[in-house]
Amino acid sequence: MTTAIRFDDFVLEFGSGASAVRALDGVTLSVPEGCLLGIVGESGSGKSTAAFAAGRLMPQGVQPTSGRLEVLGRDVWTLSIPDLRQMRVSDLRYIFQDPIATLDPTKKIGWQIREAAVGGASPQDIADALRNVGMNDPDRVAASWPHELSGGMAQRVVIAMALIARPRIIIADEATSALDASVRTRILELLRDVSRQRGITLILVSHDLWAVRKFCDRIAVMYGGRVVEEGPADRVFDQPAHPYTRALLAATVGHEARGDRLATIPGIPPLLHGASPGCAFAPRCDHAQAGLCDRMRPQTEAVEEGWHLLCHLWQDIRQKGRSHGAD
Ligand code: SF4
Repeated sequence: MTTAIRFDDFVLEFGSGASAVRALDGVTLSVPEGCLLGIVGESGSGKSTAAFAAGRLMPQGVQPTSGRLEVLGRDVWTLSIPDLRQMRVSDLRYIFQDPIATLDPTKKIGWQIREAAVGGASPQDIADALRNVGMNDPDRVAASWPHELSGGMAQRVVIAMALIARPRIIIADEATSALDASVRTRILELLRDVSRQRGITLILVSHDLWAVRKFCDRIAVMYGGRVVEEGPADRVFDQPAHPYTRALLAATVGHEARGDRLATIPGIPPLLHGASPGCAFAPRCDHAQAGLCDRMRPQTEAVEEGWHLLCHLWQDIRQKGRSHGAD
């Protein structure tokens, strides 16, 4: 299986000198082609930065400090501007949070879909593109202005614009968080189904762990600019091995036992200036061991094949959990 996106110890900083903010602190992640991957984590974990780095969607002057990031085998950060544009047009498409803001308010929908297509699109192509995303009256939608659409319809149009270019990768950054719950589910089902049908690699960047559990094959949990746990979505969700994943799930609505109060994660995510000297989660972790967790950067360990994490003590923690469960 080919790899759609590969981060290899990828480091990205904003600014320069001592005040530079390290947004990605050595991301290592490999996304197989055709995979549906969810990237989760609190605000400030680096998930959106990682997603935007894949398309080099960064303010001018931002460059990786070290490491490598490949999309379909090509080093994104050394591509020439024409090659980068070509990649964004034909290989990698983004769907952003606010569909209305994504659309040009001065152009009708049909015109915008034609512009999004590689090599143009006929009225029939435009109608087909809209029908494929569940629009029953595509001609009317094509003749509409963006302000005439609901949020759910506008997001379907944005998805149609992404799909008409036949990309191999779609990155959806909080693409449904502005929509109400029933529309959100339908949009996620649509994204999942078309991605499966066409073999598209879909990356969902989301705060919604339940949606990732339901719609993705794999999950990558980010904290402090690193992927701290990555594996099959159902396995990680049901038996999280990393203390941060466990804390995140315990703080998620719908994961609590009946009558339980939702847990919170004390403290706030770190703002890094330079590499974290140890585990970035140590100040908030119930299991942190002084002298180890705060001083040594955890390296990748395998829970089982295809399931990795960064934690010095995950085996002890799991063992203790089992012993307590058996008590
Ligand atoms: Fe907690 Fe230490 Fe594991 Fe980090 S390495 S998650 S501080 S136990």
